[in-house]
Amino acid sequence: MRSLDRAGLVLALREIVGDAYCLARPDQLLPYECDGLTLHGAMPSAVVLPRDTDEIARVVRTCRRFGVPFVPRGAGTGLSGGAIAMDGGVVIECSRLDRVLHVDVADRFAVVQPGVVNASLSQLVKPHGLFYAPDPSSQLACTIGGNVGENSGGPHTLKYGTTTNHVLAVQLVLPDGDVVRLGSPTGMTNGPDLLGAVVGSEGTLGIVSEISVRLSPIPECVETLLAVFGDVVSACRAVGRIIRSGLVPAAMEIVDQRTIAAVEASVYAAGLPRDAGAVLLVELDGVAEAVARQVARIRDAALLEGAWRVDIARDAAERERFWRARKGAFGAMGRLAPDLYVHDAVVPRARLPEVLERICAIADAHGLRLSNVFHAGDGNLHPNISFDRRNARELEHVIAAGHEILALCVAAGGVISGEHGIGVEKREYMRLVYSDDDLEAMCRLRGAFDPDGVCNPGKIFPTTRFCIEADPKARGYDRVPL
Ligand SMILES: Cc1cc2nc3c(=O)[nH]c(=O)nc-3n(C[C@H](O)[C@H](O)[C@H](O)COP(=O)(O)OP(=O)(O)OC[C@H]3O[C@@H](n4cnc5c(N)ncnc54)[C@H](O)[C@@H]3O)c2cc1C
Repeated sequence: MRSLDRAGLVLALREIVGDAYCLARPDQLLPYECDGLTLHGAMPSAVVLPRDTDEIARVVRTCRRFGVPFVPRGAGTGLSGGAIAMDGGVVIECSRLDRVLHVDVADRFAVVQPGVVNASLSQLVKPHGLFYAPDPSSQLACTIGGNVGENSGGPHTLKYGTTTNHVLAVQLVLPDGDVVRLGSPTGMTNGPDLLGAVVGSEGTLGIVSEISVRLSPIPECVETLLAVFGDVVSACRAVGRIIRSGLVPAAMEIVDQRTIAAVEASVYAAGLPRDAGAVLLVELDGVAEAVARQVARIRDAALLEGAWRVDIARDAAERERFWRARKGAFGAMGRLAPDLYVHDAVVPRARLPEVLERICAIADAHGLRLSNVFHAGDGNLHPNISFDRRNARELEHVIAAGHEILALCVAAGGVISGEHGIGVEKREYMRLVYSDDDLEAMCRLRGAFDPDGVCNPGKIFPTTRFCIEADPKARGYDRVPL
């Protein structure tokens, strides 16, 4: 980045968004230094909060004029450092674009701005018998723009799929300030799937300023079961048995003993059995008669794998309580240590029991406190390491253990992220799963949208031997037409 006229930049940005919505003092910038992953930090030059697409486009053009990179940000709950401004860039926070612009009940879609908080959309459309299916555990805070950035999942991904399965169209401010529309509210597009490329691109292809999302009908009947096990491996085996039997529940989540202890000591306490080694939360939804039969089959499968007992939520309040425990788990872990490293990797479901045992052994070998709460139905593991980053030696072990865990998951046929994205955190690990040719192809795609590498630089791609962001033109990416 050439030497920055920061005062001039801030003045120009203030002319666009107004003084109150351009933050530049150190105390104002500090909250933007990191996202939900506190291991990585970078101070932005400024933070702007535009209120519409036009202001975003003007902010982008101004950043280009001053030669400063920029990064879109939602609520900053991301867990891979995706929303931090590398190289002193400008953070473009979308929280003021928080309106639901249109709800089409007949065709079951909504048009929303990116700053709409995930859970609020389902609340809004509930009276129409509809809901928005992607439900990250952070859904009370995270935004739909951030969900698009990360292609977020959630407990109900098992049946409903991830964000990409529910995004029909977007309006995108390109890294040169032009505005394009990709996809259509019908869900059908002609030509290459550029919308598919944007969902999950972690804010590197442009800034999403409007999103058309699919709405789903609220199922007629929902049942939630809580199977109590002596150990986490038996709970994993029950998951395998349920899937082998041909059932696809709406959600299957495992919470292990350490997580139960933290949750039960917190405001999320749900009366989970503290002496259990793990609990398996299974949700079924659909037509009442079918769900009733499936409940019996799930209970049998859990008991066959050694469940101590299987409880069924008696009413909506109890179901809510079970889910509060699951979704509040990360928050509750704040009780264990000042810092939490939430890992995110996927393994083939059948390998879960063996991989989990080995992950626990890795943590033990490093003398670390590990707990597990994860989307077991998808094979999406979240080994959580509680630590104190002020302890340099412990931090070294946290990093080393993380590397071993990811390598183990890849060796078991898995991938390095299920839903939290690559961001800064895992960019060097991309080499565990991709060859140079693979990475080159991905860089060419990115270069087609952002030939100068100014939109959220320093993310996704490994820095070693990969110079596209340092000098994209050297590779000819500036000549790849969009
Ligand atoms: C307690 C907790 C639980 C979580 N549970 C889950 C879970 O179950 N499933 C899951 O998938 N994730 C989960 N997460 C991770 C996180 O909440 C998700 O990644 C979420 O989608 C991030 O949304 P956000 O609004 O906070 O986005 P941010 O963190 O602000 O940004 C995330 C990424 O999206 C990009 N981005 C943001 N807005 C835009 C935009 N308008 N246009 C283009 N790119 C944009 C950013 O540049 C960044 O790369 C959890 C996090 C926490 C803290």
